[in-house]
Amino acid sequence: LVVLIDSYFLAYRDELTSLPSRRALKQLSLSLGKKYTLAMMDIDHFKKFNDKYGHDIGDQVLKLVASKLTKVKGGGKVFRYGDEEFTVVFPRKDVQHAAIELEKLRQSIADYKMIIRQPVRKTKESRGKRQQTEEKSVSVTISIGVAARVNRQKFDQALKSSDEALYRAKKSGRNNVSY
Ligand code: GH3
Ligand code: MG
Ligand code: MG
Repeated sequence: LVVLIDSYFLAYRDELTSLPSRRALKQLSLSLGKKYTLAMMDIDHFKKFNDKYGHDIGDQVLKLVASKLTKVKGGGKVFRYGDEEFTVVFPRKDVQHAAIELEKLRQSIADYKMIIRQPVRKTKESRGKRQQTEEKSVSVTISIGVAARVNRQKFDQALKSSDEALYRAKKSGRNNVSY
């Protein structure tokens, strides 16, 4: 049983963030009714962030952003789609309903001062001693595209619509919710 549970978690949970994975999203998509709204979100300029602070700090930030996203209200379910992209599913909800909750999420991420641990650069004196770390506060923003499922769309088509809306959010300056 333990082996079974372990392999379930491996397959359906993202290892870094512990969020449900894309595979779990696929699974949920099979049980959705006719009406639902999808949001695709993507961290803004995350490549630059990694370049500036390093991949390990990037990983810490991904975890913190993920934990913030799980606070979504209004019946939203959060998944790590891949990379620095997340999907929120609102079963039985329309765009207006979802947009209110997504705007709150966007704002809460933008306002979120994340405390990260960073190794202190070694000086001549500290060389050979234990590696010291310092705390630092950083922040990121996310762009969000939202679309309701329409015209008996297949799940992948509805997801594509929200991805196109995300593209518009990026194009119109990032850190916003687009339709
Ligand atoms: P945009 O605002 O247009 O989204 O720019 P961007 O830099 O966020 O987009 P791009 O797709 O060019 O880069 C995404 C970056 O996200 C690339 C990679 O450095 C980083 N990334 C993806 N997955 C992970 C991860 O698991 N950990 C870390 N630390 N970084 C990741
Ligand atoms: Mg990005
Ligand atoms: Mg991306």
